[in-house]
Amino acid sequence: MTDTKQPNTTRPKAFLIDMDGTLYFKGEPCPGAIETVNYLRQEKYQLRFLTNTTAKTPKMLHAQMQEFGFDIYEDEIFNATYACLLYLRAQSEISCHFMVDDAVKAFFKEIPINNDAPDFVIVGDYGEGFDFYALNHAFRLLMDGAELIALQKGLYWFSSEGIRLDCGAFVTLLEAAAGKTATIMGKPSETFFKTALNHLHLAPKDAVVVGDDITTDIVGAERMKMRSVLVKTGKFKPDHLENITAKPTWVFDSVSELPQLF
Ligand SMILES: [Mg+2]
Repeated sequence: MTDTKQPNTTRPKAFLIDMDGTLYFKGEPCPGAIETVNYLRQEKYQLRFLTNTTAKTPKMLHAQMQEFGFDIYEDEIFNATYACLLYLRAQSEISCHFMVDDAVKAFFKEIPINNDAPDFVIVGDYGEGFDFYALNHAFRLLMDGAELIALQKGLYWFSSEGIRLDCGAFVTLLEAAAGKTATIMGKPSETFFKTALNHLHLAPKDAVVVGDDITTDIVGAERMKMRSVLVKTGKFKPDHLENITAKPTWVFDSVSELPQLF
């Protein structure tokens, strides 16, 4: 373990742990990750499992985690889709055009749909749905006055079949073409981490963020003045530590070193 700055070693009350690349990677749990989660629970830490994955609802993510062997609860899973639903609920009399998978669209069933003149265009993981017609339609809606909301802005991820474009690549395309800036729901947005902390009734100083991605997990933690652990699994590459935009409090080889921290 390498300390990258003078750490505050006060025991936290909660861990906000990234899922993809930190607890599992390419369809397999990371070595020691299941035992680490069990240990943290036994030590009475509160846990939230964070992900920018928006192709799945919290229910589907929970089923997947259980299949991997993780002993976690559905209401501990916090993804950008859920953060977006909370955001839309807080607006009054709005309608949306969704570019998301069917299961995720169903999750937003309480939000009125308008595919011709919506207030918001919501972009999430849409896979092959991101064809010219769909993107051009969204572009026209934005040019006609709709605002752009991105569930997250990750540019790529590692599926079990190989590296794959993520929804952020298409959000960036729409932003550039329409001259608009998307409101981001997922990590590293402050909205995301604040909503997760509100769920726990905790202040930023009481929680530690753990993740494999400097641009989402560590940047988000730094914006919120939370402590963070960068793990060298998943998306991590050694050169990420050279040109970094945010500094993790600790750097570990993997999540299995977490029990040594406090
Ligand atoms: Mg990750």
